[in-house]
Amino acid sequence: MEVSLISYTPEPEMTVAIAARRCYSALESGELASGLSEEDAKKLINTILEAGHLSPCEHASFTFAIEGVSRSLSHQLVRHRIASYSQQSQRYVLESGFKYVVPPTIADNPKARDLFEKQIEEIRETYWKLTEIVPKEDARYILPNACETKLVMTMNCRSLYNFFERRLCNRAQWEIRRLAQGMLECVQQVAPNLFSWVGSPCEMRGYCPEGKMSCGKINSIIR
Ligand SMILES: Cc1cc2nc3c(=O)[nH]c(=O)nc-3n(C[C@H](O)[C@H](O)[C@H](O)COP(=O)(O)OP(=O)(O)OC[C@H]3O[C@@H](n4cnc5c(N)ncnc54)[C@H](O)[C@@H]3O)c2cc1C
Repeated sequence: MEVSLISYTPEPEMTVAIAARRCYSALESGELASGLSEEDAKKLINTILEAGHLSPCEHASFTFAIEGVSRSLSHQLVRHRIASYSQQSQRYVLESGFKYVVPPTIADNPKARDLFEKQIEEIRETYWKLTEIVPKEDARYILPNACETKLVMTMNCRSLYNFFERRLCNRAQWEIRRLAQGMLECVQQVAPNLFSWVGSPCEMRGYCPEGKMSCGKINSIIR
């Protein structure tokens, strides 16, 4: 899996701090940035994060290039609606040499790995034969969830908080958890204050909302 930050709102922390300052100040628009030091910006960011006043965080967006992930992952990823996505098409791009993701439980189990790889080879062959007689967009129906895919995705900072809360949790699947960890490392490099308060619900709030499905890392709320 490869994840990289390809672009983001210039000066994301200043942008969010200026938006937060707008809420609490009588300054004219042209004066909002004046005299705002990095330390002031940090304080403003902490104030809105503590208060849960998160709309200023929507003014900073982050664009990621993601590849080497499965179609299983991308299906989970695109459930996050407050985002923009561009994904490599299986209608236009021939998948005859498709790469695939092998879950660690399968990779580490010789019997499972053998079954998995044999089936992948069979699918590859059938896909190839189908592309000779039907359009790619129909041949792709035979392709597996394991198929690797590539995306470009943009999320604003507030939506990223929601994404990280859900997908850094042990209850999320290993692959999207790995992606969330990679994305977090990318954004923490360019906006450490904005992303100092992120994590699973147990890390953030000290309790687990998963009930009987809890991973057990911390006592869950009894339902
Ligand atoms: C561990 C785990 C297990 C899951 N299991 C399943 C499953 O079995 N089946 C399944 O279908 N999905 C499952 N999901 C997906 C989950 O239900 C969400 O679709 C996904 O996590 C996206 O979250 P979201 O809606 O908060 O994000 P976004 O779509 O980005 O929305 C962000 C926030 O905006 C608000 N919002 C967005 N759209 C609306 C709307 N239409 N109405 C009101 N408020 C809105 C909500 O507050 C939402 O939290 C699972 C997710 C996780 C993390």
